[in-house]
Amino acid sequence: MVKLAEWQGKKVFRSYGIPVPRGEVARSPAEAERLAREGKVPLPCVVKAQVLSGGRGKGGAVRFPNTPDEVREATADILGLEFKGEKVREVLLEEKLPIVRELYVSMTLDRSQRLPVLISSAQGGMEIESVPDGSIDRQVVDPFPGLTGYEKRSVSKQFGLTPLQARSVGGVLDALWKIFVQEDAELVEVNPLAIVGDGVVALDAKVIIEDDAAFRHPEFAEVRDDRTELEEIAREKEIAFVQLDGNIGVIANGAGLTMATLDVLKEFGGAPGVFLDLGGTDDPKKVSEAFLLMARAEPAAVFLNIFGGITRCDTVAKGLVEAMGQVPTSERFPLVARIRGNNEAEGIQILRAAGVTAISDLREAAQAAVEAARRRP
Ligand code: GDP
Ligand code: MN
Repeated sequence: MVKLAEWQGKKVFRSYGIPVPRGEVARSPAEAERLAREGKVPLPCVVKAQVLSGGRGKGGAVRFPNTPDEVREATADILGLEFKGEKVREVLLEEKLPIVRELYVSMTLDRSQRLPVLISSAQGGMEIESVPDGSIDRQVVDPFPGLTGYEKRSVSKQFGLTPLQARSVGGVLDALWKIFVQEDAELVEVNPLAIVGDGVVALDAKVIIEDDAAFRHPEFAEVRDDRTELEEIAREKEIAFVQLDGNIGVIANGAGLTMATLDVLKEFGGAPGVFLDLGGTDDPKKVSEAFLLMARAEPAAVFLNIFGGITRCDTVAKGLVEAMGQVPTSERFPLVARIRGNNEAEGIQILRAAGVTAISDLREAAQAAVEAARRRP
């Protein structure tokens, strides 16, 4: 999921003609203070944590300082926050606008109807999940004509706008549709869309680009997300690799089997630390690449759970043994394998010859992995 930071989303908004407040990004209290002193950001202003979770307003991650000193203090406070588990590394400083009313609009995909949907609510400013369903309007959009005057008029009516404001909102909705299509977005959300005088201004921006289209948008490559360094390397190599809090590495094939493996380990008191889904591959090169990446996460033990449907157990085993040979002896960890299916006997033989504990019963194997991890510091 390519989730843009607010300031990046606003850059996209601006380029599509959606009005956004004047603003600057700062990465230190001194930088923020300087921006205020030099008038790059007019006072009083708004300081907002640039994190990927919402609810910043309520969570103390949006502040309204009046002087350059207050800007520095607010920025220092916000940069010191860990907001919903995410360290705040940058803030957005913006002019503070006199808001008349806060509205909500977004364009996303309605999966059950298989159509884009325009969602709107006159109760903007709070998270849409907490707005009563009766105050939310959903209009599916036929992708061929795209957004038409009909949907836009319906929104203006719902919002109770003056003709000038309705024109301003209409422009925003047209832009939302264009962004949704042209930027391959899965969500474009403005909350709040604020009425300021005769027009509207997007005070917040949430833009999520469809993962499968990310390759078409190298301009968003700088986007920060919550991937760890190893996860980032894995992504480049197209390996499904996720780091968790525990100490047991899991290698399995297929999302379902991988999740089941995590569950079984937990059931026996183990804590999965990294999991890696080989998917349908048995290419020994890919398997050893994945394994070496796993080794870099320094697991206390690794549990390999492979079902050979199309995948051949023996080629997976070969790749693993080869990769193990490349891990320095001092960094080796116990490996417990449970492999079933296609060429199972050959696979088990290869693994046992290399000193791997191979057990075909899932629960027994999981227990062995948990114990192996427990014996290590
Ligand atoms: P979120 O809570 O993470 O979604 O953060 P938002 O960007 O939506 O900001 C939260 C709230 O701060 C908004 O609903 C507004 O009430 C307020 N806010 C943000 N920008 C401005 C501004 O320029 N002027 C004023 N008066 N309030 C603002
Ligand atoms: Mn918001």
